[in-house]
Amino acid sequence: MKVKILKFSDHPLPTLPMMEDLPLERIIGITSTIPIEIVFAAGYIPIDLNNIFIGDRHAYGMVEDAESAGLPRNTCAWIKGIYTAVMKYRIRKIISVIQGDCSNNQALMEIFQSEGVETIPFAYPHSRTDKRFLHDQLKMLADNLGVDYSRAEEMKKHLDAIRAKVHEIDRLTWVENTVSGEENHIWTVSTSDLIGDYAVFEERATRFLELARKREPIQHDLRIGVIGIPPICEDLYPFLSSIGAHVVFNEIQRQFSMPYPTETLIEQYSRYTYPYDIFSRLEDIQQAIPQRNIKGLIHYVQSFCHRHIHDSIIRKHVQLPILTLDCDRPGPLDGAMKTRIEAFVEMLKYHESETLVE
Ligand code: SF4
Repeated sequence: MKVKILKFSDHPLPTLPMMEDLPLERIIGITSTIPIEIVFAAGYIPIDLNNIFIGDRHAYGMVEDAESAGLPRNTCAWIKGIYTAVMKYRIRKIISVIQGDCSNNQALMEIFQSEGVETIPFAYPHSRTDKRFLHDQLKMLADNLGVDYSRAEEMKKHLDAIRAKVHEIDRLTWVENTVSGEENHIWTVSTSDLIGDYAVFEERATRFLELARKREPIQHDLRIGVIGIPPICEDLYPFLSSIGAHVVFNEIQRQFSMPYPTETLIEQYSRYTYPYDIFSRLEDIQQAIPQRNIKGLIHYVQSFCHRHIHDSIIRKHVQLPILTLDCDRPGPLDGAMKTRIEAFVEMLKYHESETLVE
């Protein structure tokens, strides 16, 4: 079957904020998804440092700059990119997730402190059922930013309506097949900070939906899912698309969009799977496989990331072919990676055709 690759040029996407135009005193850098409802309610602009790093034309060089500044080569490239992004844009205030995200964050926070950057710690509870701990953390964050907690709950209602548009983009990806896996990735990953301006984000999402609803379905040979943290490599999605694989599930990025209907911030951030144990994530993945008719999974793992250890647990519990893909730095896939992906997709296509014959 011939594969149609979509061009983005005529479709609005959530582009990165123009950092130079933003008031520096209102910017709060975030290192991972945190309750942005509190940040917006307090009048600040949340900026996901991961996104401004990976969206930078010089992302590869930003990793090298961090190494020149002393960060070890054998540290995850996202950490190094975040470091350089903070230095490049002279960000003065950061919320850092010290429990439930990254084992390197504590040290990164200390580096920022030594550089005179104000750091505000935020911790997810060890267990998603520990709602008292989560409540205390949410309240502490609101107090720290000088906003009444009830205003953050009001902001949640507003952002819920905006996130619903991204949930619809996700639905168009796997039900109508009119949104590509890459577009799905970009929209869902951008919900971590709503590009720092939820009104602009909403306007673009509305326009994108109008256009995507008019499209013909994407022709494809195979439906696959990408699980694990968002990939650092730049051409994974176009490459998959070029060999007939339609990505209908971006696991962690979808979690950033807060996919479950909830009434309160506590409920919302205890259902969000990423900060908790692997078993919450497995539940979500296992539900998506039959629902989205997924035939194989790419488990993306970042070089030097502790989350790589989860690969064996995922393989033990998920009864589907899995390709584990490990990348280090920003940039295109190398030849060996492409060959592995191609062989995996061909194998899945072969199984698919055998099943149809039976
Ligand atoms: S990829 Fe892993 S090590 Fe790197 S920032 Fe994310 S959680 Fe931390």
